[in-house]
Amino acid sequence: MTATSDVRAGLGPGRIEVDLGALRHNARVLRATAGTRLIAVVKADGYGHGMLAAARAAKVGGADWLAAATVEEAVVLREAGLEGPILCWLTVPATDLAPAIAAGVDLTAYSAAELDAIAAATPSGAETPRVQLKVDTGLSRGGAPADAWSRLFAHAAEGERAGRWRITGIWSHFACSDEPGHPANDRQERAFRRALTLADEAGLRPELRHLANSAAAVLRPSARFDAVRCGIALYGLDPAPGHTSDIGLVPAMTVRAPLAMVKHLAPGDGVSYGHIWTADRATTVGLVPVGYGDGVPRHASSPGPAASAEVAVDGKRRPIRGRVCMDQFVVDLGGDLPAVGSDVVLFGPPSAGGPTAQDWAEACGTINYEIVTRIGGRMARTYLDSEIADAPGGEAR
Ligand SMILES: *Cc1c(COP(=O)(O)O)cnc(C)c1O
Repeated sequence: MTATSDVRAGLGPGRIEVDLGALRHNARVLRATAGTRLIAVVKADGYGHGMLAAARAAKVGGADWLAAATVEEAVVLREAGLEGPILCWLTVPATDLAPAIAAGVDLTAYSAAELDAIAAATPSGAETPRVQLKVDTGLSRGGAPADAWSRLFAHAAEGERAGRWRITGIWSHFACSDEPGHPANDRQERAFRRALTLADEAGLRPELRHLANSAAAVLRPSARFDAVRCGIALYGLDPAPGHTSDIGLVPAMTVRAPLAMVKHLAPGDGVSYGHIWTADRATTVGLVPVGYGDGVPRHASSPGPAASAEVAVDGKRRPIRGRVCMDQFVVDLGGDLPAVGSDVVLFGPPSAGGPTAQDWAEACGTINYEIVTRIGGRMARTYLDSEIADAPGGEAR
């Protein structure tokens, strides 16, 4: 399988390797675990993995639908030749909806006014626009508020009967699905069921009712409905650290750079801008030639508020010392002298021998989503294609 359009030459020594085999495997595992349709979420350049490559691999792995946030992303997917249903949900009044409607992309409407805008934007001769309705069940972000549901559903049903649009789905989104015990989850699911009842009473018969993102897809069987929308788990990262039962996901991204330089420090030598770290003993340090200009979080500077981020130099863990700069950072080599050019793994799957994106997230006070989505900048991006055997007799088939 090729992913040439997402390959990037890079403008520096950093390299992102994405394993398409891991993406396919994760799609298979998620589909089998959820036991319902899988909507593969490939927004934000596939969480940094390459949107088209991620979409193609997910489809080969069994994803039934693709989803993106913006209308523009969805149109790019279609124009790249991805067939089958594609959902998007982030429209603003200025968005030109015509290309998405012409491409048969499912748009999301939050209000009766948005439904009318979609009808008005439909190019003459285009097929009836496909629209999903998003209801706000407690996230208080996008979606129709509960007091508007009845009016929205009545308008949607009336327009559907008049052939102005087809309502293909009704959906909502959790606020706290990564905390399975949080009471908001039950409240939101109850509210979603109320919305579905109201929609049904209004005469709507959408093919797809969906509520769960990755964490809920894995941890909350009652929320799976007709489909689950999985992003982070598709990329092999834990959607609910500390809660998820291991379903055998494999992280798809590995980030590497070659060690650029090794030097000796004397006790008292300060390292990098601001000298926030000073050698307390004679040691050696190594220069890693990537920085926040490549998406390496400056919050990984050390000492910082949390445990320091680490990298693996030739397989050995080494802590970051001092501030992460725009183009480079320094690691403590503890007196060792690995060769210049040694392989430095910033993060990847456990099999890469280095830290994971989750480790970086914890060191930086953020979530694994942000680590993989923001990495990039000048880094090259390449694709590998491992064959990951699904567990014998396991669910992933
Ligand atoms: C990003 C997003 C998802 C995917 O969430 P994950 O936690 O990455 O699985 C699902 N639904 C909506 C509405 C989203 O914005």
